[in-house]
Parts: sequence; structure tokens; C-alpha cells
Amino acid sequence: MDIGTLCVHGSDKRYDTTGAVSVPIFQSATFTHPGVGQSTGFDYSRVQNPTREYLEDALARLEGGTDAFAFSSGMAATAVLMELFSPGDHFIVSDDLYGGSVRYFRTISEKNGLTFDAADTGDLGAVRRLMKRETKAVFVETPTNPMMQVTDLAALSEMLRQEGVLLIVDNTFLTPYFQRPLQLGADIVLHSGTKYLGGHNDTLAGFLVTNRPEIAGRLRQLYKTVGACLAPFDSWLIIRGLKTLAVRLERQAETAEKIARWLLEHPRVTQVLYPGLPEHPGYDVMKKQTAGFGAMVSFKVESAEFAVGVLERVRLIQYAESLGGVESLITYPILQTHADLPEEVRRTKGIDDRLLRLSVGLESAQDLMDDLAYALEG
Ligand SMILES: *Cc1c(COP(=O)(O)O)cnc(C)c1O
Repeated sequence: MDIGTLCVHGSDKRYDTTGAVSVPIFQSATFTHPGVGQSTGFDYSRVQNPTREYLEDALARLEGGTDAFAFSSGMAATAVLMELFSPGDHFIVSDDLYGGSVRYFRTISEKNGLTFDAADTGDLGAVRRLMKRETKAVFVETPTNPMMQVTDLAALSEMLRQEGVLLIVDNTFLTPYFQRPLQLGADIVLHSGTKYLGGHNDTLAGFLVTNRPEIAGRLRQLYKTVGACLAPFDSWLIIRGLKTLAVRLERQAETAEKIARWLLEHPRVTQVLYPGLPEHPGYDVMKKQTAGFGAMVSFKVESAEFAVGVLERVRLIQYAESLGGVESLITYPILQTHADLPEEVRRTKGIDDRLLRLSVGLESAQDLMDDLAYALEG
């Protein structure tokens, strides 16, 4: 089945007999048992809830996984993911990640005895050089946030499989509509469902998806134990968001490419980072492993002062954290998403005070360019 169709008809599970086209919101904490030792399949909503199960089934199918787990946020998914590991385990992570992931690793995982090394995971040699006996997993974003570095997932997963090291991919930026990491050999996919999957800047959600039964079993146990599950109503909002994922992403990516090309020509813009531009170093790998380039565009302007001015002058585009929704948002990574990154890391990655990150929404391309033109006039 085409993935666009799968977005609309996420799951064929049915939980009632009314013929409701939209899956009902089962706003119930608990479920009665038909008899002693019997169950309807649902006992208690921390463990499972029909609305959430429908969503999890849809996500598993979209990513080509066997099991998906829906969390109350992307960070809640990260927290449970890290519980798969034990003190002494070593991770190699992309050196340009969502700032919240870095904060989690540094303030919680390290305290719990895990160790981390960072590399440009697009450079297989660099990853290989950091591998040691304790290395248990490599955690990547591709393209990365906000610098848009690209990792060849098939090549990396092949190298890691030989060593028995897990590949975990944060697929928030592209979603399964554009990139399906499990198909390329990854073991676990993580999502902030808050972004494109929900798509309307109105709900927090997170996901873990896997096609490895042993990992799925352990995650199910952790999921039930930790309890950071997605509520029925929020599950329903993400189900509704998913129905339009294909059309939203097609249009958002098309507009993003137009804007990236337009920014490239703009005299006040000094650099444009968009992996759909042929001059982008990750372009060829993107062409090979993704069905689209996404709708995130990072760019630099001449000075910090000017960058702040742009943020203050945009009117249609809103200055706010987050991404992936129908409303275009602009962020200032150095003060927002990446504020907790060590200064030295920010400097070597080029995350500086002239960098802006644009999440292209569903407004018309012309209106967005008009807004940017005004903001960039200074
Ligand atoms: C937002 C985000 C997260 C965290 O997700 P929340 O839903 O905000 O908890 C993780 N990874 C990436 C790439 C993100 O953009």
C-alpha cells in the first residue's frame, strides 16, 4: 500500500461496532474484566488503551516496524529508550543533535553511568575510530538539527551490525513519509510526534518504533513500568494529524526548497543549509535514502544584530521554538533549542549567533518570501 494511503488508513483495528469512521477516544483509565482470569485485551490505560493502540499500530506500519510505543513527549520516549542500557555502556552520538537530547545524555544518562562520544556520524571512519568494547549503540539524526549533516544509514547500519552495535535514529525531521530508517538497517526509530506527525503545533507526543522482537519486549516492560504514556485524547489528535501527513509534507518540502533557493540569492544571507540543494554535501546520500528533503531550512546572516532584527521583523512567520507544524516558525538555536550545548561544541559545529532555523509551514511560498524579504531588508 502506498504510504500516503497508509497515513489516512493507519490501522485496520476496530474497537466498536458502530462503524465510526474516526477511531473513538476511549477516555477510560481502566477496563472491566469479563470474568476472573479473563481480559478484553485492555486492563489499564497505562499498559494499553484502544485509541493509543490504534495510533501505535499506524506508526509501526508507517515505519515498517513490528512494534511502536506512544509517549507523552519525544523526551519521554528518549528517557525510556535510555533505560534499555546499563552503567558502563558507551554511546556514539551525532555531534549535532536536538539540544534536549544532549541535555538528557549529559545530565541524566551520564549520572547513570553511561558514557558518550560525539562524531559527525556521516563520517564512517570517525564513528569506527570511537568504537570500543563497551559501545552498545550509535544515536543519530539525519539530517541533523540545525546544521543539516547527513548520515548514510545503510552504510552505517551495515558496519554496526557486524560489531553487534545498535543503530538508533531520531527520525523527527523527515518522518516515515520521507525516510524509513528501519528499512535501511536501523534497530530503533525515535520521534518527537509533537512535530510533523501531529503537525498542528497543538500536541506533545513521542514514539519509539522497532522491528526487533527482543527490544520490543523489553520496551513494553519499561513502558508499563515508567508510565510516560500518551493520553487517549492526545493519541487521537496525532491520529488526525497523520491523516494529512503526506499532503502536508509534500507541500511543505516544496515550499522549503523554493525558499532555500530564494535565500541563496539574497544579498543579506551568507549561508543556506538545506539538504535539497545539489551543492549541499549530503545531497547525494539524501537522494539515495530519502523520498524528499524535508521542510527545515537553516541560514546565516551577516551579524548577530541582524539575526535578532530578522526575528523581530517577521510578522507572518512566528518566532517560536518547535517545528513541523502548519504554521511557519523561526528559531534562534543559540538562545533556544541549543542553548544548553557547551560553547565549544557550538563553536566547532558553527551554531553561532548568526544562525537562524526556519520550519516551513503551509502558508503560500510567496507570502513567506514576502515576509522574509521585509525582515531581511533591515
Ligand atoms: C522536539 C524534538 C525532540 C524532543 O521532543 P519533545 O516532543 O519536544 O519532547 C527530539 N528530537 C528532535 C529532533 C526534536 O526536534
